[in-house]
Amino acid sequence: MSENTHADLSLTNALQTVLASKQLPNMLNSQQTKTLCNILSCNVIELAERMLPLAASFSFAPKSNFHVGAIAVDKQQQLFLGANYELEYGPLTGSLHAEQSAIFNALSHQADELTDLVINAAPCGYCRQFINELANAAQLKVRFNQQSYDFPQLLPQSFGPNDLGVQAPLAKLKLDKASQAPDFAKASYAPYTQVQSAMFAYQGDKVIAWSCYLENVAFNPSLSPLLTLLSQLTLNHLSLNNVERFELWEHKDNRFSFKQELQNFAEHSQKPMVHHYYPST
Ligand SMILES: [Zn+2]
Repeated sequence: MSENTHADLSLTNALQTVLASKQLPNMLNSQQTKTLCNILSCNVIELAERMLPLAASFSFAPKSNFHVGAIAVDKQQQLFLGANYELEYGPLTGSLHAEQSAIFNALSHQADELTDLVINAAPCGYCRQFINELANAAQLKVRFNQQSYDFPQLLPQSFGPNDLGVQAPLAKLKLDKASQAPDFAKASYAPYTQVQSAMFAYQGDKVIAWSCYLENVAFNPSLSPLLTLLSQLTLNHLSLNNVERFELWEHKDNRFSFKQELQNFAEHSQKPMVHHYYPST
């Protein structure tokens, strides 16, 4: 595991024993969490707190050099790690925050309802707005700086999906039957524009990371599939060196496209990209 782990050798050893691997996982299932809590004599939240430096080791932050780790915990006591990701070029808006990374990681693994979010720094206002898109935001507990908060305490008098008439805020992505590329685009959470978009990173014929589009009622903390894809690559211990091509799949009637964004990145990273439209079926 990474160089960050030397500070907590008992955790590192326990993880290696439970996972039978030296590679840091980007999630722990219920059984793994339970066994680790037994070995380390701690509860799930204490385990998540101890794992934050590991989550932060997935961070790619060439602009801020500020490495943030976040861990989302679901009802089944599964843990999903996340870390911030910053594009090396372009404006500061080309960044994904650790909380967003952990939440997408949970959603992409079809997590149960999230109960806790544990972070190694206070969540910024942008992330608080993003978290407020979750269907169960009112029940979520957020822990940072050795303090736990009920999420509504962190965003009083909030503007939320209800204000724009959204009946089904962000909960599960519809991925249970996803097999073809358009299925992953259709799993996008886009109640404000209905835009469906998914990105894939390929190594040969193999998809090594994927992402889809997630919107926010405030519009600005919406998640670009590109940044989510790059975050997913790092959480899988992969880098651009592993990527042979990018693919973007969009519904033909989308009101806007992520083609230019991916094209810029593909040119910058000197990787080919393929753009597909799929029809309504
Ligand atoms: Zn943030």
